[in-house]
Amino acid sequence: MSKEIEEKIVNPTSIGQPTRIVILGSGFAAIEVLKKLQNEFDTNNNIEITLVSRDNFILFTPMLPEVASGMIETRNIVTPVRAFCKKAKFYQAKVKSIDLNSMSLTLTHAIGRQSQPNGWYERILRYDYLIIALGSENNFFKMYDVQKYSFTMKSIDDAIILRNHIINVLEQASLEEDNVELRKSLLTFVVAGGGFNGVETVGAINDFIRDSIKDYYKNIQSEVRVMLIDTNEKLLAEVDEELGDFALEKLKAKGVEFMMKCPVTGATTNSVKLYDGTIIPCYTLIWSAGVTPSELVAELACEHDRGHRIVVNNYLEVAGYSGVYALGDCASITDPHTGKPYPPTAQHAIREGKVAAENIILAVKRKNGEKNKVKFDYKTKGMMAEIGTRTGVAIIFNKFKLHGFVAWWLWRMYYLANLPTTKKKLKVLGDWISDLIFKPDVSMITRQERESGEEEV
Ligand SMILES: Cc1cc2nc3c(=O)[nH]c(=O)nc-3n(C[C@H](O)[C@H](O)[C@H](O)COP(=O)(O)OP(=O)(O)OC[C@H]3O[C@@H](n4cnc5c(N)ncnc54)[C@H](O)[C@@H]3O)c2cc1C
Repeated sequence: MSKEIEEKIVNPTSIGQPTRIVILGSGFAAIEVLKKLQNEFDTNNNIEITLVSRDNFILFTPMLPEVASGMIETRNIVTPVRAFCKKAKFYQAKVKSIDLNSMSLTLTHAIGRQSQPNGWYERILRYDYLIIALGSENNFFKMYDVQKYSFTMKSIDDAIILRNHIINVLEQASLEEDNVELRKSLLTFVVAGGGFNGVETVGAINDFIRDSIKDYYKNIQSEVRVMLIDTNEKLLAEVDEELGDFALEKLKAKGVEFMMKCPVTGATTNSVKLYDGTIIPCYTLIWSAGVTPSELVAELACEHDRGHRIVVNNYLEVAGYSGVYALGDCASITDPHTGKPYPPTAQHAIREGKVAAENIILAVKRKNGEKNKVKFDYKTKGMMAEIGTRTGVAIIFNKFKLHGFVAWWLWRMYYLANLPTTKKKLKVLGDWISDLIFKPDVSMITRQERESGEEEV
């Protein structure tokens, strides 16, 4: 091994070293694994746990649309990873590559000793057990113009950027007293995707836009259009048609327009193009129409499903690589009850985290004669979505369907209880109370100077 490579290895192999468990990601799945492993191996010096993520926080995604609408303050839905690292080491770095054969991975980080030609710094990490929980990215289905010109709702940056953009276009529209066409396109907001993400996003921004206009932008009252466009015939098609129908009726009553069975095929700064050739002049397209694993995951030398997710068995192990587990949004796990893959939700990621951790604990003990393994066999408890202020939809235990205020209340109580720390629970509760009392806050926290070109699709 060259001296250069040797110097890059963070945890080199040596006789009598601890067993190295490396967890990739700091999302729902990864943090659950971390918590369980730390509980078990708290005082065990023969076990070394390392967590690597490009983010040094865990993001509570179900409340992301409420950050975009300004109802919840940005930092209240993120919690530092280090708050969970009681025994584990944490490296904030990007995983560049994983070599399943040599049981090592390459990390890149911003400041270090030996710069690479791309300006980044690299370190190598070896593992005995590996958990891949790297989540997913937006899927633009190779529509590069849509990727370039749309806003997304996946990260905390997305929510901040979108909120600033919405306020910016309201300000610009308020200025355009004589150019009616431009004002109309500034005030048209299109959300693509009628799944959970799209429905919750459209509900949150619709209320925010209309409340803000009512309170602060009185000269642009009647020209707002908030639209949801989807390729499916029904909203929430992956959950329940009846709930989807209810969500549609409620959102319609709040002024949202729908175009169903209507794929988006292109975009520019100031327009959205549909499959049938329709062009919608608008400055805001929010893309919520699908997710896919990152290139790193898709190109890993192991079995993938058609959606490029890593195929694992019911013990969450990657076939052919002992000690390697994949879970959460980047894994394809077959539900033994339906024969279909489990959906990519936080609810499942957390349960998968528990099972993967349990299997690693058993595998470590197996060296001492323990033979058991735990299967991932989980029945979805239910699904809930908030579709704007005081309205929600829910299906509980695949049986009880709720909508309206009760579903909204349940949504709030459930997710409040699931926020990771008491501090964040209190802060979010405070934000909700403040929202009941005060008008929306329309201050932009970054100056947005997005160019308003005159391009057409
Ligand atoms: C707006 C929105 C609302 C949602 N609402 C709900 C809901 O109400 N209920 C529900 O159950 N689910 C919901 N989901 C889905 C849920 O968030 C995901 O299913 C869940 O986050 C998946 O968990 P995960 O651990 O697999 O991945 P993630 O939580 O996405 O975590 C992946 C982690 O990997 C890190 N990472 C990725 N690539 C690299 C790399 N190369 N190097 C280093 N680190 C990397 C990321 O920074 C991140 O920390 C929602 C999602 C969104 C976007």
